[in-house]
Amino acid sequence: MRVLLVEDDPELGRRLGDRLRTADYAVDLAATAQEARHWPDLDKVAAIILDLGLPDGNGIELLREWRAQRVGCPILILTARGSWQDKVEGLNAGADDFVVKPVRFEELQARLNALSRRHLGKRHSTLEVNGLRLDPVGRAVDNRGEPVALSRKEFGLLHLFMRRAGQVLAQGDILEDLYDMEAERELNTVEVLVGRLRRKIGRERITTLRGMGYRFEK
Ligand code: CA
Repeated sequence: MRVLLVEDDPELGRRLGDRLRTADYAVDLAATAQEARHWPDLDKVAAIILDLGLPDGNGIELLREWRAQRVGCPILILTARGSWQDKVEGLNAGADDFVVKPVRFEELQARLNALSRRHLGKRHSTLEVNGLRLDPVGRAVDNRGEPVALSRKEFGLLHLFMRRAGQVLAQGDILEDLYDMEAERELNTVEVLVGRLRRKIGRERITTLRGMGYRFEK
């Protein structure tokens, strides 16, 4: 899953970005309100972590603009301003959660996971399709009870496939979910990754649609 982190403090942005990547998120960083406002593919990010005090504007205004433009992804405010008035304003402006700095990374991660679960309309985080089960919290996969060992990228790909089971995913959709904007995105990467995943979970689970992409079968 790819997260857009809007944070002007370079040290905090770097540290939080590193932690998120370790937890297998792909992370894009916007350091100003202007940069975030013109982010090219907001429809492709799974969640936004938004700081309120930005050098060139207020995160709340950005949030209102996004919601007015029907940006629908979960938005979590992460700020040093923690008065109840700030929280009320943030949530009323369309934030899904409000976290006051400093925060333990584990708590932030748990909140992000809860938001994306809610966004997907599922109370339980474990996904199951035809006997294949994926637990995004425990990071475990089993195929009819048999554990399946996956690399981090394979796990990320399977998670995406299972969230969107039955839908056609273009190679570009997959790249956008799994890799940062800055990462090298080569279409060949997806082919190789899909090939490896197929060998581990069974070829028949993923259908190639020539010229369109892939479909994880329900
Ligand atoms: Ca700030």
